[in-house]
Amino acid sequence: MNERSTLLFKEAKNHIPGGVNSPVRAFGAVGGTPLFISSAKGPRIYDVDGNSYIDFVLSWGPMILGHSHPRIVEVLVKAAANGTSYGAPTEWELELARLIKEFIPSIEMVRLVSSGTEATMSAIRLARAFTQRNKIVKFEGCYHGHVDYLLVKAGSGATTFGTPDSPGVPEDFTKYTLIAPFNDREFLRNLFKEYGKDIACVIVEPVCGNMGVVLPEEGFLEDIRNITERYESLLIFDEVITGFRLSLGGAQQLFKVKPDITCLGKILGGGLPIGAYGGRGEIMQMVSPSGPVYQAGTLSGNPLATRAGIETLKILKDLNPYRDLDEKTAYLCENLNRLLKKYGIEASINRIGSMFTIFFTSEKVSDYRSALRSDRKRYSAFFHGMLKKGKYFAPSQFEAAFLSIAHSAEDIEDTIKDADQVLKGL
Ligand code: PLP
Repeated sequence: MNERSTLLFKEAKNHIPGGVNSPVRAFGAVGGTPLFISSAKGPRIYDVDGNSYIDFVLSWGPMILGHSHPRIVEVLVKAAANGTSYGAPTEWELELARLIKEFIPSIEMVRLVSSGTEATMSAIRLARAFTQRNKIVKFEGCYHGHVDYLLVKAGSGATTFGTPDSPGVPEDFTKYTLIAPFNDREFLRNLFKEYGKDIACVIVEPVCGNMGVVLPEEGFLEDIRNITERYESLLIFDEVITGFRLSLGGAQQLFKVKPDITCLGKILGGGLPIGAYGGRGEIMQMVSPSGPVYQAGTLSGNPLATRAGIETLKILKDLNPYRDLDEKTAYLCENLNRLLKKYGIEASINRIGSMFTIFFTSEKVSDYRSALRSDRKRYSAFFHGMLKKGKYFAPSQFEAAFLSIAHSAEDIEDTIKDADQVLKGL
């Protein structure tokens, strides 16, 4: 039963565009009515109709500790009693910066912002200023927030210069955005041959989470690193999802590739709004007020967000849960694979650590185009089947599923049992 969610969604549409404050929440890709959530605890979310769900969305990644972790709640309650924003420096900003630098050594200096979008936008401004070049390279299917000139996927690889995905973005704004297919090393080499001296930076999700999970093929990240170095362009890793998710040091620690600038968000705020960009000192020194590149924010370094972030990172450091998360997620995915085979369903699962996507296509998904070949109707059927059984997966084929430290062995077994029934019926 989701009567109250249905009612609220209908009413919300009169007041909020599409009834939601971020589009994918509206269930547009899978149909049906979004759940209106009233609370969350551990691996579960609870809706306004009193239903409970095991949550594999985790607020799109941030909640790696599960919801309402007691230590996070405790620091937030204490923090709130001392004021929620000062617009002046605090020692927590310093502490969080130190922790970020400790975990991600490529970051020598870091600036806190309020979202992942702000982080990527600011990082690119900085890269352009540092290199005194305008062009940037982004990969098809990578999402870096809703920055005008990054809202470009370019429908076909033949289109080198991107065209905007959204009305309201003038074509002139995207004329410096070059698009390359993810994992296509030769394409990138040719792109640099032609435009290399004008390219300020390459921005990439080192493991893509936004066309569903797509892993970099062997040598791909190294190639980007080498070619950017050769042409004196900067390499920006967008680790908004992968930062503190794949390891304490993010994807760069796992793949041993060192970017010039890293963008962070999501887990960094422990569920509160935050983002960050940081990198080599000589680059970061160009940011205002130590340098001329302007960037600011009323709520940047917010005392609640920083304290939730500090506590989250400390817990991750204490627990070092990455092996556990990896094993737990591997077990779930192995069983899902077994069931997909058992019922003869064409699908492939991409997984790394605690993030994965079931693509309903038999071919290996290695880039945006192969991701787009998956059967979205089948994903919707899977999604709704699981939802009915109290398992909340992302309401779109092209998103990642996440596990947290709060997901128990029973939660996983329960999910496998339900997946057996749902996949049988597909
Ligand atoms: N970069 C990546 C890789 C993301 O996944 C997202 C959001 O999903 C962003 C940037 C934008 O972050 P935010 O939604 O906090 O603006």
